[in-house]
Amino acid sequence: MKESFIAAVPVLRKLENAGFEAYFVGGSVRDFLLNKEINDVDIATSATPEEVKQIFSKTVDIGIEHGTVLVLFQDHSYEITTFRSEAEYEDFRRPKEVAFIRNLTEDLQRRDFTMNAIAMDKDGNLIDPFNGENSIKNQIIRTVGKAVERFQEDALRMMRAVRFVSQLSFKIEKETLDALISLVHLLENIAVERKQAEFDKLLCGVDRKQALELILQTNIYSYLPGLSNKEDNIKLMFEYKLEKLNRREMWSLLIYCLKIEKSGIEEFLRGWRIPLKEIREIQLILHYLYKRFETSWSLYDLYTAGKDVFVSSETLYLVIKGIEDQNTIPHYLHLYEGLPIKKRSEMDVTGNDLMRWFNKPGGPWVKELLFKVEQAIIAGKIVNNKKIIKEWLMECNHN
Ligand code: ATP
Ligand code: MG
Repeated sequence: MKESFIAAVPVLRKLENAGFEAYFVGGSVRDFLLNKEINDVDIATSATPEEVKQIFSKTVDIGIEHGTVLVLFQDHSYEITTFRSEAEYEDFRRPKEVAFIRNLTEDLQRRDFTMNAIAMDKDGNLIDPFNGENSIKNQIIRTVGKAVERFQEDALRMMRAVRFVSQLSFKIEKETLDALISLVHLLENIAVERKQAEFDKLLCGVDRKQALELILQTNIYSYLPGLSNKEDNIKLMFEYKLEKLNRREMWSLLIYCLKIEKSGIEEFLRGWRIPLKEIREIQLILHYLYKRFETSWSLYDLYTAGKDVFVSSETLYLVIKGIEDQNTIPHYLHLYEGLPIKKRSEMDVTGNDLMRWFNKPGGPWVKELLFKVEQAIIAGKIVNNKKIIKEWLMECNHN
């Protein structure tokens, strides 16, 4: 068994000692069987959330209405979810209510794909009623039970199927794919936040190109914010070496291919419910990308962009231009590292200094002069030292 499971065995044991069943489930078991790195170890149990909370001293209610309690145990945290069935669905979305049950097989039955419906006990024995291990061996994504029914219960599963194509390079089995194509319109009912979570993972998978092709082929794109009717634009992405790009760079490339004006970037990303902080980062990456098409990086641009934005913009630039040799990145990073200051707060002068030195009240001139000093420091014209800055200002009479 892998280390992350071994560390979690005492959690299963504690639940069992209290008279309950407990198993590893979901993505961690799948990734373990694939010999891949395991993200989170999820646990399913016959204990109710209240019972789980009585057994462990440190718990957080993260989704108690769905039966999930986060347990903090020996420097790790585990999502422990009570066995449940999802009998009643409403509007092709998640179940209206969940029923807690005491039976593992029924819990596995409500899971999306056979590869995700395998449980493993503390000794490493698999409980695999839907032949998930076989699907993993054959690299096949297949719903548990009838695909048409499962997609009608929760349409997001269609996007999850394509997201797993991206992450695992598996193929979607025919019945599942046929159902997906015929029911794709049900995605209309799915909350954007849930679509975003899957699309985000899809954009970062090893087989992202194939997944994006599937998004087009299955018409899923018509139900995604800002992407309907954009087939030709999305296709532009296929020209590039997508695997070189991280998540933010992928979103930036998507926007570039969609030919969204600068003023429309925020609206597009808000439509996807991307947090404002990330929207600003993506806007910056694109700002410097477009500048890069015009000219090479100045020291001042490196300084204002900052390291992360610089690396993303330059990476994107090289990918779009099809430039294989990426040695511009270390070259510019070297220049960046040599900058005398990395941010404005590191300047050895403040607005108050200027007002005192020139004996003048505050006003727009302070900001302008600080900007001048900042540029002079970055360009290496003066040293970042209060005394020297003062002398330089007095000499040139910059006020
Ligand atoms: P990842 O490695 O990306 O976390 P995962 O398989 O663990 O992949 P999660 O979204 O974390 O995916 O879900 C955990 C498990 O819960 C899944 O493996 C699956 O068994 C079940 N599951 C998640 N979403 C659904 C859904 N919409 N319908 C049915 N089962 C689901
Ligand atoms: Mg998971």
